[in-house]
Amino acid sequence: MLENLSQQPADKILALMAQYKADERPGKIDLGVGVYKNAEGKTPVMRAIKAAERRLVEEQESKSYTGLAGDPAFADAMIELVLGDSVARDRVAAIATPGGTGACRQGFELVRLANPQATVWVSNPTWPNHVSILKFMDMPQKAYRYFDDSTGGIDFDGMLEDLAGAKAGDIVLLHGCCHNPTGANLTLDQIDEVIAVMEGKGLVPMIDIAYQGFGDGLDADAAVTRRVATAFDNVLIAASCSKNFGVYRERTGILMAISKDADEAALSQQNMNYLNRQNYSFPPDHGARCVSMILSDPELRADWQAELEEVRLGMLELRKQLADELRRLTNSDAFDFVAEHRGMFSRLGLSPEQVETLKTDHAIYMVGDSRINIAGLNKDTVPVLARAIAEVIGD
Ligand code: PMP
Repeated sequence: MLENLSQQPADKILALMAQYKADERPGKIDLGVGVYKNAEGKTPVMRAIKAAERRLVEEQESKSYTGLAGDPAFADAMIELVLGDSVARDRVAAIATPGGTGACRQGFELVRLANPQATVWVSNPTWPNHVSILKFMDMPQKAYRYFDDSTGGIDFDGMLEDLAGAKAGDIVLLHGCCHNPTGANLTLDQIDEVIAVMEGKGLVPMIDIAYQGFGDGLDADAAVTRRVATAFDNVLIAASCSKNFGVYRERTGILMAISKDADEAALSQQNMNYLNRQNYSFPPDHGARCVSMILSDPELRADWQAELEEVRLGMLELRKQLADELRRLTNSDAFDFVAEHRGMFSRLGLSPEQVETLKTDHAIYMVGDSRINIAGLNKDTVPVLARAIAEVIGD
C-alpha cells in the first residue's frame, strides 16, 4: 500500500530552515521562519506563561477531557481580546483549535459544510498554508491582487477590482493585522471600502489574525477585525495565540463564527463542535488554559501586555533602523516602506536571484519571495543586512 505514495511538495520555509542549520559560516543570519526572536536570537517563554504554567501545576486537579469546544473560559477571554464589545456575545460561536492553522482549517471545513460552492478568495500573496490547505481540501480558491512589489504597498485598486468579480456567497480571507508575508496592511478607510464592495456583492468575510499585538498594539491590531465584525451578519475569525503568547508548540488557537442571531449561533456552535469531533475530538488545552488564566488575572495580564509591548516596540525600532540604513546606503527612499510595514514580516521586493545571492554570498537567509522576519535581526545585524542588500541590488 504505502509504495503507492508519491512525494508531497516540501514546505519551502522548513526546507530553508534546514539549509540554514547546515550552513557552517559564522555570522549567518536567519530571517526565514516566522518565529519571534529577541536580540540574542532566543524565543523565550513569556513571563506570564511561565507564571500561569506554575499555577497550573499547583492548582490543576484533573486532566480529564474538556468539552468539544474546549474550555469555555478560553473562548470568553479570546472573544473579548479579539472582538472587544463590537458584537453581542450570544452571536459568537467558538471552538478551541490546534493553533491558528487548526482554526483556519476548521474555518474552511465550516465553509464547506455551509456552502460547498463558495470560492475562497485569498490575497496575492498570502500565508502559503492558506493556499495549500485549500488545495488539499479541494476547495475552490482564487487570489485577489493585494501587494504591489514596485512600491512595497497595497495594490488597492487591483484588490477592489478583483473582489468585485467574486460571486455572492464567496469567502474573502483577510489578514486581521500584520499581513504575512508582506507586512503591508489595509487602513481603516480602505477596509471600509472593501466592506462596501463585499456587502454589494454578498461576500462573506473570514479573518485570520495571528499577530495581534505585534503591529500597533492589541486594540489597534484588532480594529480591522472589529470593523468587519460589526458590518456583517456572518464572519469567521481564525485567531492564533502562537506568537502573541509565545506558545507556538502548545498549539493554541480558536475559530470564532459570528452568526446573525443567537439561534443561528447555536447552530454554528453545534456544527463547529461536530467538526472538532470528526477531526480530533477535544482540542489541546494546556496553552489555552494558560492564555485564559493570563487574560482573566489583572496582574498576569498586565505583565503579559508589558512584555508583548517590548516585543512590538523592539521590532518597530529594527524596522526604522533598517529603513534608515537602506536610505543612506542606496541614496533613495525605495525601502522606506520597511518602516511603514507592521508585524514580523516585510517583503522587500527582491528578485529570486538576489535572494539566492544573499544566501550564497552573504549567508543571509530569507524566504524566496524576499520576505524577511524582522525579529531575526538585532541592532548589530541590521547594518550587515542593509550593506548586503545594497550590494545585491547594485549588481
Ligand atoms: N495565519 C498566519 C497568517 C500565520 O502567519 C500563521 C503562523 N505562521 C498562522 C495563521 C498559524 O499559526 P499557528 O498554527 O502556529 O498558530
